[in-house]
Order: sequence, then structure tokens, then C-alpha cells
Amino acid sequence: MANVLEQKVNDFMAKVIAKNPSEVEFHQAVHEVVESLIPYIEENPKYKEAKILERMVEPERVIMFRIPWLDDKGEIQVNKGFRIEMNSAIGPYKGGLRFHPTVNLGILKFLAFEQVFKNSLTTLPMGGGKGGSDFDPKGKSDNEVMRFCQSFMTELYRHVGPNTDVPAGDIGVGGREIGYLFGQYKRLKNEFTGVLTGKGLEWGGSKIRPEATGYGATYFAEEMLKTNMNESLKGKTVVISGSGNVAQFATQKVTDLGGKVVTLSDSGGFIYDPDGIDTDKLNYVMNLKNVKRGRIQEYAEKYNAEYHEGQRPWGIKCDVALPCATQNEINEEEAKTLVNNGCQVISEGANMPSTSEAVEVFQNNNILYGPGKAANAGGVAVSGLEMSQNSLRLSWSGEEVDQRLHAIIKDIHETCVKFGKEDDGSVNYVKGANIGGFVKVADAMLAQGAV
Ligand code: NDP
Repeated sequence: MANVLEQKVNDFMAKVIAKNPSEVEFHQAVHEVVESLIPYIEENPKYKEAKILERMVEPERVIMFRIPWLDDKGEIQVNKGFRIEMNSAIGPYKGGLRFHPTVNLGILKFLAFEQVFKNSLTTLPMGGGKGGSDFDPKGKSDNEVMRFCQSFMTELYRHVGPNTDVPAGDIGVGGREIGYLFGQYKRLKNEFTGVLTGKGLEWGGSKIRPEATGYGATYFAEEMLKTNMNESLKGKTVVISGSGNVAQFATQKVTDLGGKVVTLSDSGGFIYDPDGIDTDKLNYVMNLKNVKRGRIQEYAEKYNAEYHEGQRPWGIKCDVALPCATQNEINEEEAKTLVNNGCQVISEGANMPSTSEAVEVFQNNNILYGPGKAANAGGVAVSGLEMSQNSLRLSWSGEEVDQRLHAIIKDIHETCVKFGKEDDGSVNYVKGANIGGFVKVADAMLAQGAV
């Protein structure tokens, strides 16, 4: 039976690869999902007959466009813009915008595909989408970033809207970029609506949205520890990658819960501070990254910590690892090093940070492994709550949003346990998240017919 199923996965993947050549990250994301789903679909033929999976790997719509803008020297620059509207079965398309030089169609399709399952897991009515550009905000002036964002939105505005498609931030798109994008949308449409999430608190944003992804990934780690080992983050040593939005607030929450974060990184290298990155040091990092837009190396100089140029932090001994930078940042060797050094929990703040081989290492060694589509769903969950507050024209307190976020993460964890429990009592969180996210979307697609 196992061989028959494996053959079905291979046949399905062969078609996906033939239809979407050279989109390697998209193939990786689809493969990870169909490995869990094909056995489930074989047991539930209604999904097979309606070709639900074949439909889910095909975006409902892909928008690609030119973004011309003027740099500070008065020269014209040209970037590529994208929006992938992947699936709207359970709500308007929802998912972030990424501005990074590596952005291409395959990367955004992997992110949009994962987003469909993630959004479904949150229990909120949101479809899946993703977008962005190969624009690199690093080294650009505020004025250049503003002109780029205005040009980007001058095309995107006709495709998005509060009941159609609601983008948010991702790598390279934080509060500054959301502000410029929102301003241009409002100007073009002459309406003040919740077309983007991650807005400033004075103009429709939600409390706890900046914190949500990092807090959520930390809550998810805590739930895995509690459920499977009757333990908590208190006293645990935690290795974190990245030093952007997700990494910063994961560091804050781990510290609040009594853990010690000893690393942060950026694309230049990582810092190792064995004394732990406490609140004062984190405030320094936030100013360094969000205001000065400097490099993490400066932390090592300021606090006399180690700096490892061009390296990732997975060789540092830890109990818990929270990858919070980017895709495929933990390879097989690094996964083995983490396991050999005694790491027990991986909770993915980033999207698909572990390669397929690394995931296999974690699963073969019974590591508590929380995949991004479950562990980092806190960000989009609070984006969903921002949409609700915008519709109600109300804003909830920070405590209220944080409580709702915590409850949603607990729900997602329960869903993973429900669909991922193995015969030996262990929880396969990958399977749990994939099936748990699939069912609601698939049932909605069945009900809505062949659209
Ligand atoms: P930021 O842009 O705020 O930070 C990204 C961090 O990762 C930076 O430290 C950056 O370093 C590092 N990084 C980015 N690309 C690379 C790379 N190719 N190699 C090494 N380091 C890299 O982004 P976020 O914190 O918002 O996003 C981080 C991850 O979390 C992404 O995978 C994103 O998809 C995911 N995520 C984010 C959500 C959110 O709400 N923001 C929601 C759910 C998931 P440098 O500055 O040197 O580029």
C-alpha cells in the first residue's frame, strides 16, 4: 500500500513539475503537502472525484506587472511586481507582500500555496494569496522606498480591496512600506478602507499585529512542550535566526516566558551572546534594525558578543530553535547538528525554513517539529482580527488581541494533534497541519462547484 501511495505522490508531482517548470520552492511546498494529503484523499474519494488537489495547486489568478520608479539621482529603475491570488474558497485572498531581490514567481507561489492552509487553520474566513517584488529596500532612502511603493500600488490597487484581496507585510515590508502603500491606495480610490493589514495604530491598525508572528511561534513551541513533554520554555536555551519583525518579537516572548535567547542573525552572519539577549539588548536590536537599518554585527561590537560572519546559528547548543529569517535556512547537516546537540523543539517563525531533508531528520529523531503553516499563523490571525476591527470600526485593547491570538494558536495546535496523532501516540505536526488546513477549504470548494 505504501508503494502505491508513493507512486501516486510521484505521479502527481510529475504533473506539477511539468506544468510549473523551474519553480523549485513551489515544488518543495506542494510535495510536502501532497505527501500528507494523498493518503487522506484516497480514504475520502469525494475530494479525489472533484479534483480538489489538482485545483488547489493552480492559482485562481496571477498578476505580474512592471514597476518603474525614479531613484534619488533621477534615474529610472524598473522592478517586477507580482500578486498571486491562490484560493478564495473561504474568504478574500489574504497574505503578505515580500520585497527582496530573490523574489520570483516560484517563491511567491510556494508562499501563496502555504498561505491557503495556514489561513484555514486560523479558523478565520480568509483565502490565500501572496505578492511582492524583486525590489531591495536595503540601502535605499526613505524617499526612494516611498516612490517605489507608490508605483507598486498604482498598478496593484485595481486588483485588491477589503472584500477581494487584503495584502500585509513580509520580508522587507514593515510599517514604513505599509504606510506608503496604504497612502497611495487611499489616494487612488478616494476611500479609507481596510485594504491592507499591519497598518499604524492611528490609522486602522491592530494592537499586537507587529508582535503576532513572533509571539505566535513562541506560543506554539510552548504548546508542543506542554502537550508532549509536560514542560515549558522556562529555563530553556533558545536559538533564533533573523533579526527582523518575527525574530524580534519571538525573542521578546521567549524572554517573557523565562527562556534565554542566545543568537540572532541577518544575511551577513549571526551573533552569539551566551548571557542571553535581555530586554535592554533587544531594545538596542529593535532600534538598530527598525530605525538605523544597520547590521547585526554591530550588536557584537556593542555587547562584546561573538560574531560569526557568513554563518547560520544552528551549531550553537540549544533546547529550542526558532528559525525566523527565510526559506531553506536549515539544511540536512544543520538539522543533524541541532539534534546531536540536544535540541528538542523546532517552531518555524519563517515560512519553509527547513529543507525537505532537514524535516526528515527532525521527524526520524522524534523532535517536536512545528511547521511554519501552523507555527507562524499568528501573524495572519491578527491580520484577520485587524480586518474584523476595521469592519466594526472599533479597536480592541492589546490584552484582548493577545488573548485571542493565544486562543487561536491553542486551537491550531489542537487541530494538528487531532489530524496528526500517530498510532504510537506521537504527533506528526506536518500531517496534522496539512490535513487540518485542507478539510475546510476542500469542503468549501466542493460546495461551490467547479469554479
Ligand atoms: P524582515 O524583513 O523583518 O526580517 C527578515 C530577517 O531575515 C532579516 O534579519 C533578514 O536579514 C533575514 N533574511 C532575509 N532573507 C534572508 C536570506 N536570504 N538569507 C539570510 N537572512 C535573510 O521579515 P519578517 O521578520 O517579517 O519575516 C521573516 C520570515 O517570517 C519570512 O520567512 C516570512 O515569510 C515569515 N513570516 C512573516 C510574517 C510576518 O507577519 N511578518 C508572518 C508569517 C511568516 P537581512 O536584513 O540581512 O536581509
